[in-house]
Amino acid sequence: MKIGVLPIGQVPKNVPREIAQALPKIIPDTSCLAIENPLSLSLNAYVERRRQYSSSVILRAVRAFAEEHSEFDRVLGVVDVDFFASGFNFVFGEAYSPGEAALISLWRLKPGFYGETAGSGVFAERVVKEAVHELGHTLGLGHCSKESCVMHFSNSIFDTDRKESLFCRHDYLQASLTVKHFREAR
Ligand SMILES: [Zn+2]
Ligand SMILES: [Zn+2]
Repeated sequence: MKIGVLPIGQVPKNVPREIAQALPKIIPDTSCLAIENPLSLSLNAYVERRRQYSSSVILRAVRAFAEEHSEFDRVLGVVDVDFFASGFNFVFGEAYSPGEAALISLWRLKPGFYGETAGSGVFAERVVKEAVHELGHTLGLGHCSKESCVMHFSNSIFDTDRKESLFCRHDYLQASLTVKHFREAR
């Protein structure tokens, strides 16, 4: 399976590259490319009264990109803005499940957002966990009850920090079966 990591709007250059390096170690039979040219962040996604962006609107743009770029089986959008989804004050990410497009925001993964002074390693780990989580959804995986599994739902950054960047055994097997299908289809 081939994944493209797509920066949207202003995103630090190194982040998509670091995600692209980490994903193949976690998601079975996967290669990953950091896309250089960022997609522009549409003002249509901004919701004035909430002073936040709509993750669903941005996710639709990621899906449109994925449909135009069939060289990728999955596209993970990366933004650095605060966003929400229907029914939530904020989200770390959103994805079609199953589907081709996933999206994460760096905004609430930064230690500085919580007044923490943790080093950049903590941030990098959080980014990879949320990236794997949303891509797991695109493979059809739901939320997992195991707190250590990357597919456990993160209600807050504490949940993100508690879980690992890896799938539990069950979810890994499920993900492998879905990814295998791509290899055979190509
Ligand atoms: Zn989820
Ligand atoms: Zn699991």
